[in-house]
Amino acid sequence: MVVAAGSGVRLGAGVPKALREVGGRALVAHAVSRLVAGGCTHVVVVARPELFAAFATALADCPVPWACAPGGAERQDSVANGLAEAVRLAPRAQVVLVHDAARPFVPAAVVARVVERVRGGAAAVVPTIRVSDTIRVADPTDGAHVDRSRLRAVQTPQGFDLPTLIRAHAHIRRTGLPVTDDATACEAIGIPVALVDGDREAFKVTDPFDLLVAEALWSRTGER
Ligand code: C5P
Repeated sequence: MVVAAGSGVRLGAGVPKALREVGGRALVAHAVSRLVAGGCTHVVVVARPELFAAFATALADCPVPWACAPGGAERQDSVANGLAEAVRLAPRAQVVLVHDAARPFVPAAVVARVVERVRGGAAAVVPTIRVSDTIRVADPTDGAHVDRSRLRAVQTPQGFDLPTLIRAHAHIRRTGLPVTDDATACEAIGIPVALVDGDREAFKVTDPFDLLVAEALWSRTGER
C-alpha cells in the first residue's frame, strides 16, 4: 500500500507531492516500481478521490494489479481505507507493506528485507537507520541529553502480517489513539516490532531541499 493522500503543502508549487515528477516520472510511480522490484504483487494507492484520474495516468505502466482507495483526514485513516481495498484486491494476501509515496527511492533490497522478515514470522517490521546528528531535547529544562547510539530513525515500507495490522487499526480507531506510523499501532495491541536495516536512499521528500536531493540521486543512478 502506498499512502499518498497528504496535502504535501511543505513542498509548495501546487502539485500534490506524490505527483511531482523527478526524471519525468511521478514520485508515486518511482515508489511503486521499487515496491514491485522488491516483491510486491498487488498495489493499493491511497489518494484524494479528486486525484484518482491523475494517479491512474501516473501509474499507467504499473506491471501488477493495482487500485486506488480514498484518503482520510489523518494518515491512519488513509491506511485503514487502504487496508479495506487491499483485502478486496488481494483476498489471499498474508503480508502487507505500508509505504509513504514521499519515499520514492527506497531500494528494492530494503523492500525485500522487510517482506522476508514478515514471512519469517515477525508480525510487524520496520526499516531503520542510525541517527548521525547529535540530538537534543528542545526544552533545556527537560534533560537535554539524548544518547544517539540508542536511537533509530524509522522509514517505510513497514511490513505486517495483514490480519494483525487490520486488528491494530481497528483498535486505534476504537480508542482514538493518534499514531504517525503503523508499527506504533501494532505496539498498542502488544505486538513486538522487529527492526531491519533501512537505507538513506529511502529518505522522505518533505521540502524543496529534499526534492533537490531526489533530482541529484536520480541523475546519478537513473532507473534501477
Ligand atoms: O505527514 P507525513 O509526512 O507523515 O505523511 C506521510 C505519508 O502519509 C505521505 O505519503 C502522505 O501522503 C500520507 N498521508 C495520507 N493521508 C493523510 C496524511 C498523510 O495518505 N491524511
